[in-house]
Amino acid sequence: MKKTALIFAAIFALSVNTKAEKIKLIIDAAHGGTDAGAKSTNGDKESDLCMQFANALKNEASKKNIDVVMVRTADEYKALSERNNFKPEAGVKSLYISFHMNAEDSKTARGAVIQYNSKAKDAAATRVVAEKLQSSFNRLNDMGTVINENCKAMVIKSSEIPAIIIEPGYVSNQQDLRRLKDKGIQQEMAMLIVKDIME
Ligand SMILES: [Zn+2]
Repeated sequence: MKKTALIFAAIFALSVNTKAEKIKLIIDAAHGGTDAGAKSTNGDKESDLCMQFANALKNEASKKNIDVVMVRTADEYKALSERNNFKPEAGVKSLYISFHMNAEDSKTARGAVIQYNSKAKDAAATRVVAEKLQSSFNRLNDMGTVINENCKAMVIKSSEIPAIIIEPGYVSNQQDLRRLKDKGIQQEMAMLIVKDIME
């Protein structure tokens, strides 16, 4: 009897410990300052849209006891080398998310893209997150979500923690652009991301 109680106590302690694992989310709104990134035909800047998605994610993550680090909080230039120097920490599940917006000359390309690097550190864990996000985003929109596992961006391929780029859509496509500027869509996407990384 005593032994059983001990075992239960041990299992309880283990499960409590797992639940208590801290989640740290590093949110990078790409571009900024002198680097506006892509622009829509109306002059909407990629850097501003990235910031809006980043802020929406910060707000949703903060409601769920997730530690949030913002790479930039203002419209300022940050060198690539300053954007992801994050190191793994014991007992902390870290994830780096960089928001970009897509753009193409064709104007017809649309939909979300999730990028990671299958040869980067912790790629297996990153792939799990990318695939969860893909199916969640597909439920949110009718655009389809593509995964690119050969991302060459330095902040992703050299990352020491799981790292992904999320491109919620194309500023070069009018249907996408309308959605990208929609606060409701920004918030819905943020809620899906938070749900997926907490599972
Ligand atoms: Zn970009």
